[in-house]
Amino acid sequence: MNTSFLKKLGLKKSNEGTWTGQKSIGTATEYLESYSPVDGTLIGKVGVTSEKDYAKVVRKAEAAFIKWRAVPAPQRGEVIRQYGNELRTHKDALGRLVSYEMGKSLQEGWGEVQEMIDICDFAVGLSRQLYGLSMHSERPGHRMYEQWHPLGIVGIISAFNFPVAVWSWNAMIAMVCGDVCIWKASEKTPLCAIACNNILQKVLKENKVPEGVSSIINGDYKVGEFMTYDSRIPLISATGSTRMGKIVGATVASRLGKSLLELGGNNAIIVTPNSDLSVVLAGAVFGAVGTCGQRCTSTRRLIIHESIYDKVKAQLKKAYKQLKIGNPLDPAMHVGPLIDKDSVNAYLDSLDAIKEQGGKMLVAGGVLKGEEYTSGCYVKPCIAEVENSYKIVQHETFAPILYVMKYSTLDEAIAMQNDVPQGLSSAIMTNNLKEAEFFLSNAGSDCGIANVNIGTSGAEIGGAFGGEKETGGGRESGSDAWKAYMRRQTNTINYSDTLPLAQGIKFDL
Ligand code: NAD
Repeated sequence: MNTSFLKKLGLKKSNEGTWTGQKSIGTATEYLESYSPVDGTLIGKVGVTSEKDYAKVVRKAEAAFIKWRAVPAPQRGEVIRQYGNELRTHKDALGRLVSYEMGKSLQEGWGEVQEMIDICDFAVGLSRQLYGLSMHSERPGHRMYEQWHPLGIVGIISAFNFPVAVWSWNAMIAMVCGDVCIWKASEKTPLCAIACNNILQKVLKENKVPEGVSSIINGDYKVGEFMTYDSRIPLISATGSTRMGKIVGATVASRLGKSLLELGGNNAIIVTPNSDLSVVLAGAVFGAVGTCGQRCTSTRRLIIHESIYDKVKAQLKKAYKQLKIGNPLDPAMHVGPLIDKDSVNAYLDSLDAIKEQGGKMLVAGGVLKGEEYTSGCYVKPCIAEVENSYKIVQHETFAPILYVMKYSTLDEAIAMQNDVPQGLSSAIMTNNLKEAEFFLSNAGSDCGIANVNIGTSGAEIGGAFGGEKETGGGRESGSDAWKAYMRRQTNTINYSDTLPLAQGIKFDL
């Protein structure tokens, strides 16, 4: 594999032939090793941040915050505009790194960088629109309004499957809000974080912005814990598994900090008899196998009306036969690898559990072997016929396993769709207005995202992104998600000559 694109991202080749690019922040004694799931190559090594070095990063961030909060928001937006332009220049190289280090298709790697560019554009506009409200005071000669101030340091913990976009959703918005950020990326994709930071630091330097406005720390959950236990960090935005979210949420709450949690999904599409089957197939198959089933919004369950159940099953089987599995940097491939062998084992365990719990495989799974699959991370997307209540169906397996099940009434379908612990993304396929509106009503889907005639997978940055129940309740990205990164202050100004008290209270001296 030609990895010369890494040079364009500021990474450097060491004597032993692996890549790093980390500006030394001190005294690493341990290293993260980043292996590509594409071909099993050791791409690079990154020093793990020690507690001592973490303390330095926080001190730098605190000092940078004092300066950054004083920069007018539209000028902060100008810095983000320039970062967006740098990302345009680096889109090809960064997209390739995402694909090579994480294993998603090159198209999806470029798509992630495009999302970064889009959120920069959104943040630039937002930098002139951090609006507060004004209210009518009940007292004469008084004015009342609210304004939004930055919080301080935002700690960002991210997952491997969106190794660059999720950070940018948080950091670009937080930075125009006047916050400074410390990012702990997934230990499985540390080079992506270094590349994003290299590009950003160049822009910060050109604008004479202190480098502590955005920092990275490297390591596994133990390094993440430096931030979750640290009361100098008012907001932790954490993306990852529900298991992680329960721990991080409780830790941050115990110090009365704020957390924004973006956790696992268990996303379903309801396929009605009033749907267009070509739309169903495109939405369901991409949703289930895209990114090898490793999106938080991947389609896990298809809830199909009994009258078209056999027909949809037959078409799905036909579509799965055409899937090409292989190197994700080859545009002819539909499905790349899982992130690592632990994920392959979790996939295999789920296949066993499906059988044990009574499920029937419609399209068989398995691990692929051979020259093209030397990393050992390539698996077959599969389909199982199950009941929604099976324990394994209630659980998010981060792999391309699609569950199909039958319904007879729409009420029943919606009850099945909602009857899982997670609440991220959902969809209905129908051309019937009443069905669509009922699905979107307060008696319909209980998820943070509910779509009509679109699959569950993916989202545009303009909407607030996130989900309910065990998905964690956080919202990121567009709409008014920015409010999570600021503190609200209510101000009342008395421009009269007296001091009337609220609620008509008299206090005569
Ligand atoms: P993970 O939970 O294993 O790790 C996520 C991050 O949390 C990593 O950086 C990890 O080091 C850190 N971490 C784990 N335990 C921690 C702790 N106790 N304290 C501090 N940090 C800790 O998740 P993953 O395998 O990288 O990602 C897959 C999961 O992420 C899936 O469940 C997926 O649905 C979810 N996800 C959700 C969204 C969303 O927006 N809802 C987006 C992407 C991924």
